[in-house]
Amino acid sequence: MKGLAKGLTYTLKNMTREKATYHYPEEPLPLPDRFRGIQKFYPEKCIVCNQCVNICPTDCITLTGKKHPDPERKGRIIETYNINFEICILCDLCTEVCPTEAIVMTNNFELAEYSRDEFFKDLQWLDENDTNIRKEN
Ligand code: SF4
Ligand code: SF4
Repeated sequence: MKGLAKGLTYTLKNMTREKATYHYPEEPLPLPDRFRGIQKFYPEKCIVCNQCVNICPTDCITLTGKKHPDPERKGRIIETYNINFEICILCDLCTEVCPTEAIVMTNNFELAEYSRDEFFKDLQWLDENDTNIRKEN
């Protein structure tokens, strides 16, 4: 009887406590502002400087550029941009060196796939990854 009362007291006490768990995945997890999640890419901002490729410690970025179609304008524009998320360690270095903020971090982290090939994300996928973009980059 004493044990039952003890157990009930413990249950009642904890019922009024603030929950330490989240109703994930129905509710999104609150993440810190500096969370390093899957990148968003803005092709129109990219100047094909290759700095992100050069700094990447795992060589998971590949890109190609082409001459600007407008003969009046100098420089190149991006043609293809891929990140292999099988080896990307979300270290944030590519976004830190980018001079135009063409690549930025988001708070998105869900990347579960059935095939390893699906971890290879192209320019279109990275461009469309436009939710939960980190406020400060
Ligand atoms: S986050 Fe790091 S590992 Fe991933 S693409 Fe950028 S530089 Fe490479
Ligand atoms: S560092 Fe930025 S501007 Fe330069 S190639 Fe990478 S994404 Fe494009």
